[in-house]
Amino acid sequence: MTKSILISGAGIAGPALAFWLHRHGFETTVVERAPSLREGGYKVDIRGVAVAVVRRMGLLEEVHAASTDMRGAAFVSKRGKELATLDADTFGFRHGDDTEILRGDLAKILYDATRDDTEYVFGDWITGLDERPDGVYVTFACGAPRRFDLVVGADGLHSGVRALAFGPEEDFLRRFDAYISISTVPNTFELDRWELLHSAAAGKMVNVYSTARADDAKAAFWFSAPPLTYDRRDVDGQKDLVADQFAGLGWEIPELLSAMRAADDFYFDPVCQIVMDHLSTGRVTLLGDAGYCASPASGQGTSLALVGAYVLAGELATSDDQAVALSRYESEMRPYIEKNQALAKTALRGIIPSSRAFAWFNTRMIKLMPYLPGRNRVLEQMARPIREAANALVLKDYALVA
Ligand SMILES: Cc1cc2nc3c(=O)[nH]c(=O)nc-3n(C[C@H](O)[C@H](O)[C@H](O)COP(=O)(O)OP(=O)(O)OC[C@H]3O[C@@H](n4cnc5c(N)ncnc54)[C@H](O)[C@@H]3O)c2cc1C
Repeated sequence: MTKSILISGAGIAGPALAFWLHRHGFETTVVERAPSLREGGYKVDIRGVAVAVVRRMGLLEEVHAASTDMRGAAFVSKRGKELATLDADTFGFRHGDDTEILRGDLAKILYDATRDDTEYVFGDWITGLDERPDGVYVTFACGAPRRFDLVVGADGLHSGVRALAFGPEEDFLRRFDAYISISTVPNTFELDRWELLHSAAAGKMVNVYSTARADDAKAAFWFSAPPLTYDRRDVDGQKDLVADQFAGLGWEIPELLSAMRAADDFYFDPVCQIVMDHLSTGRVTLLGDAGYCASPASGQGTSLALVGAYVLAGELATSDDQAVALSRYESEMRPYIEKNQALAKTALRGIIPSSRAFAWFNTRMIKLMPYLPGRNRVLEQMARPIREAANALVLKDYALVA
């Protein structure tokens, strides 16, 4: 009998899993809380073994065609003077076929590749999971109750499935005492596939970029702060919070804050990770940020989601015993997850300089880089941890039926 699988979340992990489950002959339903696919968003990297997954999906050409095609980045002073520049691939630690794409463009490519073979239900979410010997009985906020053989939480950092099946988010959160906000803003700097970074003060960083084919730009505000209390549904309150953090700072920050206030795609979240002792319980498992968010600082969240989807679907197809398949999914993924999560702490120190002196030193090093003896060796040493983490899994060849 064909197994029926419910995926919560139509971000990156959910549709990628739906793709592979269909190829393995499963019946798949995706339930997404948002009323439609969440497009737009920041740029994300696809690196190492995740590139191989996208190639196996037959989507690599499409992904490359939609890449951000960034030229590079410049660190600027509060007067807007260029202090140091880097080409895009060095800046993004990319290698070979690694690529960068707007998150929303990738989400759309994955959705388009699966929408004909997958049942997508938008504007609904799971409210209850009742596990019985013959399956999980699921209740929804809007739709009628249904039974599935397996439920996969691919519903991101604030996963509803994780909360229902494993407990409160707080129990699995590894905090870095940092926050990030991203908004689409007008391209007033007339950036052409170029990024500007300004270290605004100790513990505060702003970056603005515009990608290929975009008429607008994205502005990101990063800051260090102890755990803050705020209402996750109160967007205006979160905008106030970000504006307060950057109030009175120079460069173009006041204008960027005004543009952030006007943005309708404002995003705000702590920079944190999800760390779980086990990814599955009974007939429920977690995928992507829901189970092993590595944080935006790692630059590897999208790759983890794509690789996790491939491995989970493959293991489910390989074993008749679902519990065995879930345990194999976890043991295949565990070292890869840990290596990629380990990248975030160091990366975050570079993204949000803790002092003016550290920011000055950082920028100075980047400026002097072309003249340093052994420059290539230094760059290689900096890129090695991310390259090793990005390749820390060998893809199995799972047999496909479609
Ligand atoms: C600012 C920022 C920058 C980043 N930069 C990078 C980068 O450079 N490189 C990189 O690799 N990664 C980056 N990431 C991380 C990356 O976007 C995620 O790790 C990746 O998208 C994981 O995908 P996901 O499908 O697990 O989660 P998501 O993409 O978050 O998708 C989860 C989906 O579930 C839906 N959902 C939420 N709750 C429910 C519910 N209760 N029921 C149903 N649906 C629900 C959401 O609406 C969403 O559509 C960045 C993240 C951020 C925030």
